[in-house]
Amino acid sequence: MVRVMVIFGGRSGEHEVSLASARGVIEALEKSGRYEVLPVGITREGRWRVGENALSELEAAARRAIPQAQEPRAPATRDEKLPNGFGDVDVVFPVLHGPYGEDGTVQGLLELAGVPYVGSGVLGSAVSMDKITMKKIFAFHGLPQVNWVGLTREEWECDPEGWIGRIEALLGYPCFVKPSNLGSSVGISKARDAGELRAGLEEAAELDRRIIVEQGLDAREIEVSVLGNEWPEVSLPGEIVVRNRDFYDYRAKYTEGESEIVVPARIPDETTRAIREIARTAFRAVDAAGMARVDFFLERETGRVLLNEINTIPGFTPTSGYARFWAASGLSYEQLLDRLIRHALERHG
Ligand code: ATP
Ligand code: MG
Ligand code: MG
Ligand code: MG
Repeated sequence: MVRVMVIFGGRSGEHEVSLASARGVIEALEKSGRYEVLPVGITREGRWRVGENALSELEAAARRAIPQAQEPRAPATRDEKLPNGFGDVDVVFPVLHGPYGEDGTVQGLLELAGVPYVGSGVLGSAVSMDKITMKKIFAFHGLPQVNWVGLTREEWECDPEGWIGRIEALLGYPCFVKPSNLGSSVGISKARDAGELRAGLEEAAELDRRIIVEQGLDAREIEVSVLGNEWPEVSLPGEIVVRNRDFYDYRAKYTEGESEIVVPARIPDETTRAIREIARTAFRAVDAAGMARVDFFLERETGRVLLNEINTIPGFTPTSGYARFWAASGLSYEQLLDRLIRHALERHG
């Protein structure tokens, strides 16, 4: 039996998304009969919960949406201490989205502990989490992307009117304002005028020290899954179709019926080829490993393909895009988990 520690929850705005991903991963690993799973939950406050009740405990807290500190503790959950450090496990699967998990922090801890883990290392994780840095690296590789402007909270607070003017001159409207380090569209807004731009910048500045503003496109949204280490494979593309919402925001992502994933995407073969090639280059450019989901725009008017971003720990339920694109490409959820664990052991072995 391969002993797998699954780490989930975490201190980011994507805590609940991580719980859903972890439920899928843990159930599938246990069902296979080939893995012994050690669940490790991190509360919103950053406290560690170890043991078989960890997931249901965090799920209950999320449902009640009350601070974890006030949660009654399930008796069988060993609290806060890891059993013999990481000595009892063969591989760790960090199923954490956003800062403090997808960004290289947990990966650094695992490097220090000397334990193999699924997914990107410190560099690939950190670079991919920070949209400003990620886009600079993509630009170096000549990958097509939208025009953007990066600024810090400090810079914004010192000269708000100056920034509004510069962004209007460089990007115009609509534009998208984002915290540089986040995911699941948390803190992202579309600005159609100076008032919305100001409000969006204020909101993003509350969530991150670093802020990015991008030229807004009228585009279809295409995504692919990448799997592997040095010579990664790329799945068939899927298309995200959003209903009743202005863009693929948090609600569209996680509310039943607000969006749909069409796999494979109905796009020309030539476009699929271009997307897969860019995805592979993007994966290698940021030094990603194991897995990533790469998000694209297909501009409606011109048919131009633009790279949006890479996610090193994408949503990972059996119905998430990452798994569905692989399923359509002939790889089941169970096979996918086997492959990821194998790639982790290969990389760190
Ligand atoms: P994920 O959950 O994929 O990690 P994220 O929080 O990193 O998402 P993005 O993928 O950058 O955020 O953007 C979220 C959504 O916002 C996109 O899927 C798209 O619907 C919309 N969007 C973002 N940037 C742009 C843009 N420049 N032009 C048009 N739409 C955009
Ligand atoms: Mg993202
Ligand atoms: Mg993400
Ligand atoms: Mg995205």
